[in-house]
Amino acid sequence: MYEDLRKKNVLVTGGGSGIGYAIAEAFAAEDADVLIVGRERENLAHARKSLGTRVRTFEADLNLLDRIPDLVGELKTAAGHIDVLVNNAGINVKRNAADLSDAEYQGIVLTNQTAVFALTREVGKAMVAQGSGSIIMISSMASRYGIPGVVGYAASKSAVEGMTRALAVEWSPSGVRVNCIAPGFIVTPMSSRAFQNDPGRKERVLARTPLGRLGEPSDVANAALFLASDRSGFITGTILTVDGGNSIGF
Ligand code: NAD
Repeated sequence: MYEDLRKKNVLVTGGGSGIGYAIAEAFAAEDADVLIVGRERENLAHARKSLGTRVRTFEADLNLLDRIPDLVGELKTAAGHIDVLVNNAGINVKRNAADLSDAEYQGIVLTNQTAVFALTREVGKAMVAQGSGSIIMISSMASRYGIPGVVGYAASKSAVEGMTRALAVEWSPSGVRVNCIAPGFIVTPMSSRAFQNDPGRKERVLARTPLGRLGEPSDVANAALFLASDRSGFITGTILTVDGGNSIGF
């Protein structure tokens, strides 16, 4: 147990499914109070029902940047303050660069990069004022590998890693830590689509993963607990790889 996470207010974006759901579940198991922001009503209802009373959900499309300050106001009214922000919501569009329109590229960047900044700015301002907080970004191995067909996704996730370092330095004097998890290949609805559309992908991934399996959402959630807790109190600006060794596999 991470005793210090008990009764902490933890905001998880995209917490209705996949990795975000596992993160919400892990924090709730530590007796933290979890606020999930997501845009899929059915997933939010399922999370509320299955994760119990420590979890509250807020339906919002984070692409609507103008509404983010009001959303954060609503969350602060509901919770009092926010101790931990996990920027998990993200999208991927698999398309060759030559066929990816400007609008599609901007759409990926809007969700994965600009909305992440807008929410982090609003929550971060309040954390700076309260003198404490832990912010966790979620990037991807796509920011380090040259994976074909995901140029917008790779660019936006690389931006998130840069944002992590810049914000960590800016907000450290105010007691706010900013870190990032770079998951490898994790079994979720998002990755299942990629595996379905690319027979042989799973074998290629496993062939270079020393720990010999795909990741589970709980593997990422465990890293998020650590980065949120005081036990990582001297860690900021870091990118924590959670990939079973895939990125160093030969
Ligand atoms: P997922 O599709 O299951 O979950 C993404 C969640 O984000 C969904 O609940 C979705 O509704 C929400 N979301 C997307 N756009 C939103 C918006 N505009 N407003 C509100 N909510 C929005 O995918 P996942 O695999 O669980 O991915 C979670 C995160 O982990 C993403 O940032 C993804 O890029 C990253 N990631 C996943 C993998 C993997 O292998 N699954 C690997 C590396 C990184």
